Amino acid sequence: MEQEVHKETMKKEQCLVLIKPDAVLKGLTGDIISDLAATGLGIVGAKVVEVTRELAEEHYQHLREEKFFSELIDYITGEFHTRTVVALVYEGEYACKKIRDAAGSTNPEEAHPGSIRGKYGRITSKGRFENVIHASESAKEGEREIKLWFRPGELVSAIFETETRSMTTKETFWKGG
Ligand code: UDP
Ligand code: MG
Repeated sequence: MEQEVHKETMKKEQCLVLIKPDAVLKGLTGDIISDLAATGLGIVGAKVVEVTRELAEEHYQHLREEKFFSELIDYITGEFHTRTVVALVYEGEYACKKIRDAAGSTNPEEAHPGSIRGKYGRITSKGRFENVIHASESAKEGEREIKLWFRPGELVSAIFETETRSMTTKETFWKGG
């Protein structure tokens, strides 16, 4: 019985990581992925995304009432840097905690100097946090976010339950391929 409980608490989970537009513009994508490798977690999905306001607002919907919300949406959609983010799905035991520990505190000035945000983040002279990385706060939040950013076929395995729907939409293929 005790063994079963242990197995349950060691369950694999997934965490969404976004390498934010400031980090992409500064060429920090490789450094951040290298730093995250120290967590020992696996990557099960990765892509470059041009973030729409709709996606950004849905992703950060729980912060809608915050005074920094509008600027946060501008930041993540690339108004200040570049239009793209790199979206990654990490998988493993305690994935969200491990990634968030490696990321450091939200405020880059308070983040441990050896953490990703401590090393690469900054607060602009206007007071805006540029903290280079997003990481899901929990496995539950990770699931919500991953479903928002990725289709099942974009991940190496169907990590959440899927369903098949008949679609009549046209799809684009490589010409001649
Ligand atoms: N944020 C900000 N000012 C704040 C708090 C948050 O600009 O005082 C931004 C920052 O980019 C942060 C994001 O909003 O990463 C989401 O906030 P959250 O509290 O969820 O922090 P996180 O989970 O990213 O550490
Ligand atoms: Mg958060």
